[in-house]
Amino acid sequence: MTNLEPFEKIIFVTRPVFPTLEEVTEKLQDIWNSKWLTNNGPQHTMLERELTESLKVPYLSLFNNGTIALMVACQSLRLSGEVITTPFTFAATPHVLSWNNITPIFCDVDKETMNIDADKIESMITPHTTAILAVHVFGTPCDVEKIQDVADRYGLRVVYDAAHAFGVEINGRGIGNFGDISMFSFHATKLYHTVEGGALVHGDKNLKRRIDLLKNFGIKNEEEVVMPGINGKLNEICAAIGRIMLGYVEDERQKRIRLHKIYNEELADVDGIKLMPNCAADVKLNYQYCVIRIDEKIFGRSRDYVYGAFKNFNVYTRKYFHPLCSDYTCYRQLNSSRVENLPVANVIGQQVLSLPMYGELTEDDVRKICAILKSFRR
Ligand SMILES: *Cc1c(COP(=O)(O)O)cnc(C)c1O
Repeated sequence: MTNLEPFEKIIFVTRPVFPTLEEVTEKLQDIWNSKWLTNNGPQHTMLERELTESLKVPYLSLFNNGTIALMVACQSLRLSGEVITTPFTFAATPHVLSWNNITPIFCDVDKETMNIDADKIESMITPHTTAILAVHVFGTPCDVEKIQDVADRYGLRVVYDAAHAFGVEINGRGIGNFGDISMFSFHATKLYHTVEGGALVHGDKNLKRRIDLLKNFGIKNEEEVVMPGINGKLNEICAAIGRIMLGYVEDERQKRIRLHKIYNEELADVDGIKLMPNCAADVKLNYQYCVIRIDEKIFGRSRDYVYGAFKNFNVYTRKYFHPLCSDYTCYRQLNSSRVENLPVANVIGQQVLSLPMYGELTEDDVRKICAILKSFRR
């Protein structure tokens, strides 16, 4: 690759997968015929069933987005006080705790997986701790066994933010089978989407009843409202698009696997660049993201330099996740937000960069992006 001109059009970090308009029109016709736009309609019912199967989980409740779903997860388990979580995640994770009047307690992360460091959780537990809210960051599974072990010893609940982990499996088991509840996000930028949407999955029938009440204002029937619920319902149009998208997700995953291989080929030998994820052989990943870590001392350029320099070539990368949640103005006064408490997360937050990753990207695009990246070396 010698041609290092900027891309003619901006290459964004991701692009949503679009179904064909014909498919959507056909489903819209079904909805128009049914005269049912929201509130547990036929599309909603069918999508719940299809996703339960696809994610290999016992129970699933659809939501209008992942954030509301996670808020309801906290309510359904009656979490309170303090919840131990990770600072290396999207803003929604700690915010959901705050909206439940829960104090997020930030625990440092593992330097390989970038997920919450299961060995450090125990030291963060206080008499106020009620749960662990872990995130399968970039779809790499957390150390689910160790986390469950700590939780069991201290009587804590475990909730997973699996927003990045659609279709991820450990030894053939769907990632949603671990902990008390897992949340999936079906936002347009995720590997699988319903435009906006989300789900909670879990293994308890009574919990499903409670969750389904909570997402519909706590309305049990025309005469009874039994708990202070919220509006978390997914509408029929989004549910129908979600049903169509189920037919796209594996193809999109395969395309991303191919692109990830090329990133790997091109970047494996570049000193100071490390391509994530590193994962055990028994794990099925979804390759939703392409994340690198840049070690400035070895590469000769900082992550921030690379981020800025890429823009000159019309490549728009993202600093996922920077800033850390512990650096947000609303959380940095917390005791657990101190840099001394989060040494690994603070290093990683300065090193990570998400590179463009979506099925429509061509292999040549990826080779060129890598060539551009290598040209920054010093
Ligand atoms: C996308 C995302 C969410 C929020 O999901 P929405 O469906 O956008 O509300 C939460 N946590 C993580 C880690 C995410 O990436």
